[in-house]
Amino acid sequence: MISGKAKVAGVVGWPVSHSLSPRLHNYWLSHYSIDGLYIPLPVKPEDCIEVIKILPKMGIRGVNLTLPHKELVMPLLTDMDDDARAIGAVNTLMISYDGTIQGMNTDAYGFIKNIRPHIGTRKNKAVVLGAGGAARAVCHALIKEGFTEIMLANRTQEKADALAAHFAGRIQVRAWDLRNNMLEGADLLVNATSLGMEGHEPLPISLDALPKTAVVTDIVYIPLVTPLIKAAKDRGNPVVDGLGMLIHQAVPAFKAWFGVNPEITPELRNILLKAT
Ligand code: NAP
Repeated sequence: MISGKAKVAGVVGWPVSHSLSPRLHNYWLSHYSIDGLYIPLPVKPEDCIEVIKILPKMGIRGVNLTLPHKELVMPLLTDMDDDARAIGAVNTLMISYDGTIQGMNTDAYGFIKNIRPHIGTRKNKAVVLGAGGAARAVCHALIKEGFTEIMLANRTQEKADALAAHFAGRIQVRAWDLRNNMLEGADLLVNATSLGMEGHEPLPISLDALPKTAVVTDIVYIPLVTPLIKAAKDRGNPVVDGLGMLIHQAVPAFKAWFGVNPEITPELRNILLKAT
């Protein structure tokens, strides 16, 4: 039961109806019998600043943010963690009654926690496709994890160049048309584009040059088995789907708002899978 003392958090986005975060956090709230609630907050980008400014006055503990809100709120923050500073975007806010707003970025954490058990010590060459907000978090995570060579390609070359400039020499950019050749000798392939997502075209790629030992991960999780994940699995590569990233990125946020370090269980994955 929700009491008058319930701790409230939510997700601010536009659109927000597709978000799995309410199911995820409310599952944990119920599992740990916490007097709390996590709600979807559909907020248009043009209203984002006004709404975030008002949240401390409403006693909201914190929110997750989807694009483009992740970058819009940066000027409102009292402080932010090192990952948010390095990535240049926040996906989680901790809000206090005194009006302070702390920003965190847990996307990089979620990405690496999801793939770490599968990559072991193979951290030489990673290939990243995409140069949007998620690719930024992925690249930061790979640099932090100690990958020695990170190659990136994006349909819009200028965005890839801007991302590489942001990470000052740690990312090598290749032309989108050369993506198949980039796979030679790779330990890891990451799809950080929105290709393969329900309603989008599949990622156009040939895996012929990719070593069979390379881990293939897709951060798209609707559908869970994207055409890339299927093609990689069919030729025997180890694969990691994107749902784990979503679940792992929620852990530090839940802990910050509700004070419990939540467990990731097969039951939780199944509940989320039913909603995809
Ligand atoms: P974004 O900033 O909008 O970036 C989209 C990326 O996809 C860009 O690199 C874009 O290339 C590329 N792209 C889109 N359509 C394309 C096409 N037809 N051909 C080639 N490239 C195309 O989005 P984002 O926030 O980075 O998110 C990317 C995906 O990751 C989304 O599907 C999102 O749902 C997913 N995601 C998952 C998690 C998770 O927890 N698993 C977390 C964050 C995001 P251009 O630059 O050329 O447009």
